[in-house]
Amino acid sequence: MKIMLIDKDNPIPAGYKPLLEKIENGYYMEKRAAHCLRALLAAARKDGIIIEIFSSYRTYDYQKQLFDGGIQSNLDKGLSYEEAYDKTANSTAPPGKSEHNAGLAADLKGEDWDNDNWQKFEDTKAFKWLTENAHRFGFILRYPKEKSHITKYIYEPWHYRYVGCPHAEIMTRKGLTLEEYLKLCNCI
Ligand SMILES: [Zn+2]
Repeated sequence: MKIMLIDKDNPIPAGYKPLLEKIENGYYMEKRAAHCLRALLAAARKDGIIIEIFSSYRTYDYQKQLFDGGIQSNLDKGLSYEEAYDKTANSTAPPGKSEHNAGLAADLKGEDWDNDNWQKFEDTKAFKWLTENAHRFGFILRYPKEKSHITKYIYEPWHYRYVGCPHAEIMTRKGLTLEEYLKLCNCI
């Protein structure tokens, strides 16, 4: 399976339309990703860990709404348009450049979710479980700590990207971002 790189320099190819499948509670992902996320959630629950989805597939229009809303709230804080754009783009992808638009990413939370400090998710049991197990279901922590200079995104302990096995296993074991991993082989 070809792994799609989607980041600020690599938009989703024009015309790409994921074949979507329901995961649960009205959340959808690309068919294979949905299948694997369902398996991940079931395995976590079997281990007594509650993990919930709070965002998965997003339409282009919804992503635009999120991005424009982020810019506006930063403008309201007194930032210039350029500053507001850059600050928003650190944590929200412009429409068409989000893995969520391709149906390949899910934002996950668990008990003790702090809506005022999303990064605190790293201190929860759910995050610990994901760190130990997400790769077994083909998912990677897409924006790790200390790698913002490569991914161009802040640390997002809640954002998981489906890349499939064994890629997720290798990336996790070697501590590689998707950008770094894809540079190792020219024909994935
Ligand atoms: Zn996300």
